[in-house]
Amino acid sequence: MLAGRLDRVRSNAIRDILKVTEQPGVISLAGGLPAPEAFPVAELEAAALRLFRTDPGPALQYSPTDGLAPLREWVAARLTATHGGSFRPEHVLITHGSQQALDLVAKVLLDPGDIVAVDDPSYLGAIQVFDLFEARFLTVPADREGTDVDVLAARLAAGARPKLLYTVANFQNPTGATLPLDRRRRLAGLAEEYGFLIVEDDPYGELRYRGTPVPAIATLSERVIRLGTFSKILVPGLRVAYMTIPAALYPAFIKVKQAADLHTSTFAQRLVLETVSEAATLDAHIARLCEVYGERNAAVLAALDDHFAGLVDWNRPEGGMFVWARMREGGPSAHTLWKAAIAHQVAFVPGAPFYAMDGDAATFRLSFVTVAPDRLAEAVGRLRAAYDEVA
Ligand code: PMP
Repeated sequence: MLAGRLDRVRSNAIRDILKVTEQPGVISLAGGLPAPEAFPVAELEAAALRLFRTDPGPALQYSPTDGLAPLREWVAARLTATHGGSFRPEHVLITHGSQQALDLVAKVLLDPGDIVAVDDPSYLGAIQVFDLFEARFLTVPADREGTDVDVLAARLAAGARPKLLYTVANFQNPTGATLPLDRRRRLAGLAEEYGFLIVEDDPYGELRYRGTPVPAIATLSERVIRLGTFSKILVPGLRVAYMTIPAALYPAFIKVKQAADLHTSTFAQRLVLETVSEAATLDAHIARLCEVYGERNAAVLAALDDHFAGLVDWNRPEGGMFVWARMREGGPSAHTLWKAAIAHQVAFVPGAPFYAMDGDAATFRLSFVTVAPDRLAEAVGRLRAAYDEVA
């Protein structure tokens, strides 16, 4: 009964792994969730009460496909204030999570067999969507600074013709890598030269704990669809996100979004708007998140220094939620370490599922934001005990 396109979609290996991590006593560095204790519950509750008490009708009614006008204006103003450039409300489409934005991108732009360039490794949820729309992948190796643009340029020069390039340029999931400005400029130049579109997915950019922000690719090129979300800076459960779309493509996205769901939840949009329109509240919340997550980031890096120097290599992301690690030559595979780690009641995610084609079995991802600093030290200590068992 199933449509042929489903043959291509692998089951979500991470979901199976996460089941194990839910057992009591396990310290999980596996999930990719934000920390629930940092949700702005009081602010959301107050905003919801205001909505119900003042003018509930419009908040509970159908609303436009492109999103609520004041929220689109807010998004455009915030993007312009944060990144410079000129983001305009008429280019903003509100979506049901960035995940829907990815689905719309694929639906609007990909015919079966079209080529999508992705980092190797890249965000699993994006790979899954592109697979469902029967894309082919041009995988581009990535190093500690993200996409290896020299390799991409060489493949393009040799005749590869992607229609889209998908990138998470800030604190990538899973690698935590941030693409430096010169590589962003080169990507923008290559998009112009070879006529592809860049999908710049940026859920983590505002979660920067150290260092200096790098300009958004959307400010360097007109050929960019930019995805942002409230999932990581507010809460994921409301499923409110946004995309900016070049003017010529905008009507096609509206058509497809309308067919998908008419519009994103009116109530969720109103609730987000009501909560964030007080700029000081949102900025204070993000500052607090960065403080809490920044401590956890420092704690996991210090624990890795203590326990894994010389055995494993890892990056030192200045923000986001993930550290990416790779066993040195002669070390166990990430899967072997994972099995031993579960016995020691600590969990992480092996890296192989994040590759669109063949995975690197020595890699793994550590998610650090949901675990308190002392527990992170304990978790990495347990991981070392597991490593010693299987090395
Ligand atoms: N893109 C990336 C890179 C992500 O890591 C995630 C969530 N883990 C998403 C998109 C989806 O986010 P949302 O909750 O906005 O759908």
